[in-house]
Amino acid sequence: MTARLIDGTATAKLVRAEVAEEVARLKRHGCEPGLAVVLVGEDPASQVYVRNKDRAATEAGIRVETLRFPARVPQAELEAAVERLNADAGVHGILVQLPLPKGLDDTAVVHAISPEKDVDGLHRANVGSLWRGEDAPRPCTPAGCLELCDRYGVELEGARALIIGRSQLVGKPLAALLLERNATVTVAHSRTRDLPGLCREADLLVAAVGRPCLVQAGWVRPGACVLDVGINRGPDGKLCGDVDFESVKEVAGLITPVPGGVGPMTIALLLRNTMRAAARAAQHAELGKG
Ligand code: NAP
Repeated sequence: MTARLIDGTATAKLVRAEVAEEVARLKRHGCEPGLAVVLVGEDPASQVYVRNKDRAATEAGIRVETLRFPARVPQAELEAAVERLNADAGVHGILVQLPLPKGLDDTAVVHAISPEKDVDGLHRANVGSLWRGEDAPRPCTPAGCLELCDRYGVELEGARALIIGRSQLVGKPLAALLLERNATVTVAHSRTRDLPGLCREADLLVAAVGRPCLVQAGWVRPGACVLDVGINRGPDGKLCGDVDFESVKEVAGLITPVPGGVGPMTIALLLRNTMRAAARAAQHAELGKG
């Protein structure tokens, strides 16, 4: 059997077009959504991510401002810049490109962002809301995984979901989102015993590890949906995921490629979070008038 391919590039384009429509509607009502991106240092991968976010946001009609700092910027200066963005009514979303260079405290900078402008959904207030099932920005990559499941008809209710990886950015928030959708969730990590055996029980298998070709065909239940979050450089220098795509696609029912799977969804969901933050701010301003 050959799996059906989940086309993240095409799905992200659809989501971005929907966001652009909503942005246009907000602008007609006098609210121009604004995103501020904070980039520290010269890491080439971060520069590429920020450029891509900038381009996608501009295309969707969102005003983007990128604040660049040298790698040796003092922590206090960075947090003061975030505070200024918090106070700027034209900025609805603030994104700090992570990881920050050595010597800077990622967590402190993320927690300096106002929760309502935290479009990455990483502030502890938003993490708490997520686990309580309350309305708050959802982390972009896990939300992108769910969007792919929904748009490709993957039944989550009652499904056995296995997530490999327990990071704050992907594995943990994805577990919360899948629980919210009534999946039965297992989270595996580097100390998990018999990972291949656990994987074989999963209807939905998500790999978010950062190890090329970790997930092999023999680990996958026939017909399962496999989402590959990993972004790695293979020995040939090409981008690859955590899943051995060529062999796993012969066993899985649905599968995401790398590149062109989960990656493009992350940016699309960032734009949606920014648009929603702007819509909430506009609603509050309207209520304030009344
Ligand atoms: P991370 O913080 O390094 O977390 C990796 C997780 O994998 C950890 O929980 C670790 O376990 C677990 N792990 C490591 N080796 C393992 C093994 N052999 N077996 C089972 N579990 C293992 O990484 P991350 O930020 O979640 O990112 C994961 C991957 O996704 C990376 O390739 C990253 O580039 C990619 N990513 C992609 C997107 C996107 O938009 N597509 C977004 C974010 C990240 P311990 O907790 O026990 O150490």
